[in-house]
Amino acid sequence: MELTPAVAGLVCTDCGSEFGFDIDQRCPDCEGTLEPTYEYDTVAPGDLFDAGPETGQWQFDALLPFTSDSAITAAEGSTPLVAADRLVDELGVGEVYIKDEGRNPTGTVYDRGMSLAVTALSGHADPDSIEPVALASTGNSGQSAAAYLGRLGLRSYAFVPSRTAFSNKAMINVHGGQMRVVGGRYPDAAAAVDDQLATDYYSLQEFTTPYRHEGAKTVAFELYADLGELPDVVFVPTSTGELVAGIAKGFEELVEIGAVESTPTVVAVQPTSCSPIAAAVERGLDAPEPWAHPDTIIGELEVPDPAGGAQAVAALDRLDGEAVTVDDSDSLESATRIAQHEIIEMGAAGGAAAAGAWNWHEAGAFTGDETVVLLNTDSGVKSPDVLRSHLMGQGV
Ligand SMILES: [Zn+2]
Repeated sequence: MELTPAVAGLVCTDCGSEFGFDIDQRCPDCEGTLEPTYEYDTVAPGDLFDAGPETGQWQFDALLPFTSDSAITAAEGSTPLVAADRLVDELGVGEVYIKDEGRNPTGTVYDRGMSLAVTALSGHADPDSIEPVALASTGNSGQSAAAYLGRLGLRSYAFVPSRTAFSNKAMINVHGGQMRVVGGRYPDAAAAVDDQLATDYYSLQEFTTPYRHEGAKTVAFELYADLGELPDVVFVPTSTGELVAGIAKGFEELVEIGAVESTPTVVAVQPTSCSPIAAAVERGLDAPEPWAHPDTIIGELEVPDPAGGAQAVAALDRLDGEAVTVDDSDSLESATRIAQHEIIEMGAAGGAAAAGAWNWHEAGAFTGDETVVLLNTDSGVKSPDVLRSHLMGQGV
């Protein structure tokens, strides 16, 4: 990979130590999370948004660590921002858009960060020497990792809990990755990576690689590029904290380079039965405490001990954001209603964003003229059984 002119290095979000790009896992000093820093005064809004005919997230490489020419990419990003006029009336706001991340190469928002992380990996002098590459996943990120690592021909392992959707399990193998199904829930899969791999491995875990949450920030850039301004409120289905932390950083960088004056309200949405980040926000904690008994039907959101919990809480604090919880039945009802009316393959996790907006409406939190964005984090075709089961409960 080739570094961009504005990127300065990597900084530890815990201890503040600075590093070069030879380090691409956790902080050697304190095990904290690293992330790229930039010389913001060298980047003008035109550098970021006047990419010419280039499409996809790498058109924004003025504020990415690596150049688009050197990227491992399948044109992720540039996902549609679909106007949902029916929801405008139902929610009583000015405009509603669904940012459809299901349209990414493997049907998930995580393709963005995976493209950056695997590009970083391609910069190793001898990538083969760091095999195997491994991560634990609720499903989508494992599928994405297998796809992107296939471009480099690297041996990879995705550790998934047994409840992971069949489509994810199948496609991890179809993309050439190896898979270990671990009994139990997501924390069991995470623990199994160390327990079952006999050798050292290169981790693509979120917040272990500096780049997965960094990739999520391009969602923020695209919202500005498509709307010509930032929306007022963005509802983000939240599990690991990767999306909240990354998208918030993107909004803050738009302020840094002078494109906008203020950031939107970011609302993290979690299932009532697994909401460690929302609980931390409500209780005023700096970091979540592990959720003792997670039990949500939406597997992608069942992350009881989020790796980026502290980063997400800090981001919500900086942006005056909020966190809300939603019942599974409301998330599935929202996902299926949007699928029925808006020509979108709305995922079960994405339904949580819409259910969060409904909660705001019922609480009278909208003033009536906002531009609202709902993030559909994955394609509905990844978990049709979960969505269909909701209809069965209604006798359909
Ligand atoms: Zn550190």
